[in-house]
Amino acid sequence: MKDLGAKKAAVIASFRENFEGEPIVVKSPGRINLIGEHTDYNHGYVMPAAIEQASYVGIAKSGSEQCKLIALDLNESYEFSIEGALQPIEIGWVNYFLGVIDQYKKKSLALEGFHMVFTSDVPLGAGLSSSAALESSFGFALSQLFSHNVSLVDVALMGQQAEHNFAGVKCGIMDQFASCLSTANHAIVLDCRSLEYTSIPCDMKDYQLVLFDTAVKHNLASSEYNVRRSQCESGVAVLQTKFDGIGSLRDATMEQLDAVKGELDSIVYDRCSYVIAENERVLLAAEALKSGDIETLGQLMNETHLGLSKKYEVSCKELDLLYDIAQLNPNIIGARMMGGGFGGCTLNIVKKSELDSTLEYVLESYKDATQVELKHYIVAPGDGATLL
Ligand code: ADP
Ligand code: MG
Repeated sequence: MKDLGAKKAAVIASFRENFEGEPIVVKSPGRINLIGEHTDYNHGYVMPAAIEQASYVGIAKSGSEQCKLIALDLNESYEFSIEGALQPIEIGWVNYFLGVIDQYKKKSLALEGFHMVFTSDVPLGAGLSSSAALESSFGFALSQLFSHNVSLVDVALMGQQAEHNFAGVKCGIMDQFASCLSTANHAIVLDCRSLEYTSIPCDMKDYQLVLFDTAVKHNLASSEYNVRRSQCESGVAVLQTKFDGIGSLRDATMEQLDAVKGELDSIVYDRCSYVIAENERVLLAAEALKSGDIETLGQLMNETHLGLSKKYEVSCKELDLLYDIAQLNPNIIGARMMGGGFGGCTLNIVKKSELDSTLEYVLESYKDATQVELKHYIVAPGDGATLL
């Protein structure tokens, strides 16, 4: 377990140095996605879990209309009036907070001036959603401070809108949902169409979840993302000419896809077959986790990687190298690229008793091949938004 106390204490200490009064402190975490990649915009299933690394927010009313935000990790601050007009600004980190305030205003949930300090140990830009952690912790903090009782699902939805409107990232709901609604030692199986979800035990038994971070970000990501979306849509359009009840790839079976194969561009066929198989894998992975079958989960993750690499073609050489390195080590029983692709991390299931030697093996193998020092993060399924 991480030391929640130290982060909370750091936030309170900074608050006392800078402001009068005592803050309430809340936290909301980053997340991993165990399985279910590129399924969200196809209205399918994802299986995220919050991690223990989180954003911590200390907040109290200022007694006036003035607000001040302090970013402890950056040693920066920002002041504004709660009555003022809101629009995205040049300072990146501030936008996540302004975007959430904007949502409160749009919902006519009354706010007053406040003082706030935040810190986070979610790695930035590694695909662990440090941005969702900020939005969720702040959305939850405002609800607590001003007694609005906003549901955690609504906090998540407000965070998503903040990300769309103030950070300019048209993300799905998974990150904020996992950050808000997770519980320790559990994963969430989320239906991205209905937002119905179940929380299932995620006991990794003799294994440890480990991320290896390539730290690369190929700029193909956003253009290729749009191409994949339209390829999936064109597959759906053909399926709809033959079958009833197909609103998205989530509704199609592999048999149905095969029945229209002759009418599909071969690339579109591959893209659709990946998505259909991935939705099936999420449901199989949920069953495996529920029965404590970590080996099957690992196998499904391997299949996901191969699908993303060969059929969906959103991997890159660094991620494929990490996958190959993992396959050569019997102490890693599952590995896959995590996130949208073209860079970021791989998620790995590593035998706990062999953790140190396996980390060394992966870091050295990657360095031998690329001359690059890999970063890694040890993660475990943690709690969602919490008042500390
Ligand atoms: P991620 O995959 O981690 O969500 P993003 O680019 O979406 O990557 O979000 C990272 C941004 O979130 C940073 O550039 C910064 O503006 C903000 N951020 C995240 N963590 C912190 C922090 N601890 N302090 C200040 N800003 C942060
Ligand atoms: Mg983000």
